[in-house]
Amino acid sequence: MQTTGKRSIHSLVLDEITDYLATQNERPYRAKQIVDWLYQRRVGGFNEMSDLPQALRERLAQEFAFGNFETVRVLGSQDTTRKFLFRLGDGNLIESVLIPASPSLYGSTSDRRTICVSTQVGCAYGCKFCASGLDGFSRNLDASEIVQQLLAVEKASGERIDNVVFMGMGEPLANFANVVRAIRIINAPWGLEIGARHITVSTSGLAPQIRKLADEPLQSRLAISLHGATDDVRDKIMPINRKYNLTTLLAACDYYASRKKQRIYFEYILIAGINDAEEQAHLLAHHARRLGARVNLIPYNTVEGLEWSRPSREKQERFLSILRGHQVVATLRREKGHDIDAACGQLRLQTKRSEDGVIIAAVS
Ligand code: SAH
Ligand code: SF4
Repeated sequence: MQTTGKRSIHSLVLDEITDYLATQNERPYRAKQIVDWLYQRRVGGFNEMSDLPQALRERLAQEFAFGNFETVRVLGSQDTTRKFLFRLGDGNLIESVLIPASPSLYGSTSDRRTICVSTQVGCAYGCKFCASGLDGFSRNLDASEIVQQLLAVEKASGERIDNVVFMGMGEPLANFANVVRAIRIINAPWGLEIGARHITVSTSGLAPQIRKLADEPLQSRLAISLHGATDDVRDKIMPINRKYNLTTLLAACDYYASRKKQRIYFEYILIAGINDAEEQAHLLAHHARRLGARVNLIPYNTVEGLEWSRPSREKQERFLSILRGHQVVATLRREKGHDIDAACGQLRLQTKRSEDGVIIAAVS
């Protein structure tokens, strides 16, 4: 979304730029020149596109917005998880997280740098354990605001990103069209050229949209935030389960797996006394085996103001070994210091207004 009301050039796919140029009686090869400036040379405005005629540059600037994405602050250091706080054109604040090489991340091998992107300002789904939904939902990000998180993090860090997880603030499948569009641009050979196998969308369980995603010609990965192997557990912590219960969700996962011929991931946060009973592990294993899904266990990270906590290390390991006992491929995040979980999936911006009316942002 741009305050000017113009479409952002970073939300367009190559064909759309080509179509626009045709309406202007411009040659089709200009479209490739434009995307090269955007995604290879990464200029800051149309006036820098020096091999385009001046008149065309001016027309483009009149027609399209060029993202004004402001990096407000960066937290963390070179070899740890870093958080980037951005201010959008309308003043809203969002975060992205850059996670250094880690063997246990989605689609990641040890030498990959992963970005965790936000898809919405806030979240409407209100999972009881999550910080992102605490302040409710403000708005969807448009595709350019998703794509620009990658551009801005690469620029600020000087590092190349090669793995993308849609696990920041917001529910990606509730912002379906913009997320799919962003994936196209991130994946395209003329765009950011990140392989579809290294792009993972995470959802809390929007069953109809999972089916819709299955029908899209994309090979990106899907992670389901399961967090409970029965309806009674999911009902307690994830309001979405009252709308799409476990049977409905798993049927949608079945459909996805059959259409895509790829494994999906189950994410399972371990929360003490809520979903960590051994019976849950056995049932989770049953669901995972039936679907051929992999399970990523994530010890819960405490959120200020919420009562939840993670089970003991012993209990976490026991849960893992039950899954493995059922021949399920499962991992447990054990990294300390990396702080991956604290970074990804529980983003929360606390904003307050200072006396002179300037928004000050702090990241928790
Ligand atoms: N809305 C989507 C994607 C963003 S959340 C979804 O729910 O899948 C990304 C992941 O972080 C989800 O699995 C979410 O359940 C998890 N998460 C949220 N709060 C967390 C916390 N405090 N500790 C660990 N993981 C958390
Ligand atoms: Fe929203 Fe995902 Fe957090 Fe649930 S876990 S409130 S869906 S961001």
